[in-house]
Amino acid sequence: MMALLFAICLFSNVEAFRMTTNRIGNVGLSMAVSKKDVYTVTLLPGDGIGPEILQATTPVLDEVASKLGFKFNFREADIGGIAIDNHNDPFPDSTYEACSTADSVLLASIGGYKWDSNPRELRPESGLLKMRKSMGLFANLRPAKVIPQLMDASTLKREIIEGVDIMVVRELTGGIYFGTPKGIETDPATGVRKGYSTGVYTDTEIERIAKVAFDVAMKRNGKVCSIDKANVLEVSQLWRDVVIATHEANADYKKNIELSHMYVDNCAMQLIRWPKQFDTIVTGNMFGDIISDEASMLVGSLGMLPSASLGDPSGPGVFEPCHGSAPDIAGQDKANPLAQILSAAMMCRYDLDRGDAADMIEAAVEKVLDGNQRTGDIMEDGYTLVGCKEMGEAVVNAL
Ligand code: NAD
Repeated sequence: MMALLFAICLFSNVEAFRMTTNRIGNVGLSMAVSKKDVYTVTLLPGDGIGPEILQATTPVLDEVASKLGFKFNFREADIGGIAIDNHNDPFPDSTYEACSTADSVLLASIGGYKWDSNPRELRPESGLLKMRKSMGLFANLRPAKVIPQLMDASTLKREIIEGVDIMVVRELTGGIYFGTPKGIETDPATGVRKGYSTGVYTDTEIERIAKVAFDVAMKRNGKVCSIDKANVLEVSQLWRDVVIATHEANADYKKNIELSHMYVDNCAMQLIRWPKQFDTIVTGNMFGDIISDEASMLVGSLGMLPSASLGDPSGPGVFEPCHGSAPDIAGQDKANPLAQILSAAMMCRYDLDRGDAADMIEAAVEKVLDGNQRTGDIMEDGYTLVGCKEMGEAVVNAL
């Protein structure tokens, strides 16, 4: 299962990516796409810093391809706010077509103040949800592993974060973000407005994401903590029951995986108090949205963290940085492009069967981090502040 292949490989720093390559080799899993001379990659620059970080990334991909004797055929499509402006749809059919027929999809970021007061279906985030749903991207893998060179960029004490290595497996196409009924209604008699969303999970949706998490954990430290709110929510009670049943039903899982459960409020505290207790976390869409961002911040900047959204192995995955469109720094050449560049490396390894390209990109990022150039988000005393473009060029030069 391709989801498993991806799942076991996604870590936040370059050393971890290498370790994972060996792990993949050991288990003998195969890639979905065999090596080609030309790869079609759909770029979704989106909004805010999205275009800048992608512009810093494509030269890295071109350089590595030219060194290895293949080519990228990039094509661009609109998503998010720009798609609303151009097509009146945050994920138009033309973008779906461009994504679903590509070898892989490299997404930057979406969103911005301009569209914040639009009706729900014309908000940039609706484009992301539509993309995930229409492309069947049900598993989101978000790593949080401390990068040794950036240890001091975390707001937490060194002894708390040293050695942190967490993988958050978030269900991406169900839960309260998609459940119906939903809406905002006004009581005609009183004028009182009521907003409601429905948290829904089926047992099949829970089982498939639980399996991804168990498979991930089998290749890590064999610990899965399932996060829910079963003390209050029925949907969470079903979540917990199905996760337990999925664990019980498989002899390998039962033997090799230590399964625990935690309420989401406690998890939010424990992540700050003692994050090293976690190995693999599995949770639903909304809790995963929040917990994965919290876990990311343990390790410093969001600007360093790639992620993957995966579905059916025969279709393309979507690779994107964990962060948003950072409208506060958009257009100022201040963004850190490394999460986007590392997302491109993941794409090469896991969607394009180009581990050689991924190795080169990751080694180049590591080399840059060993040097003294830093973007604002990871800046420390004694280092040289560089912009997005210069950081991208540094990676190209390090190749
Ligand atoms: P954000 O991730 O955009 O920004 C949070 C903070 O981190 C900001 O201070 C920002 O400047 C900083 N930051 C983020 N990425 C950075 C980078 N690469 N380099 C340097 N600093 C970086 O989150 P937000 O402010 O909550 O949301 C802004 C917009 O992004 C909203 O419209 C939101 O809906 C959208 N968003 C999109 C995605 C996505 O595209 N997948 C994810 C989260 C948020």
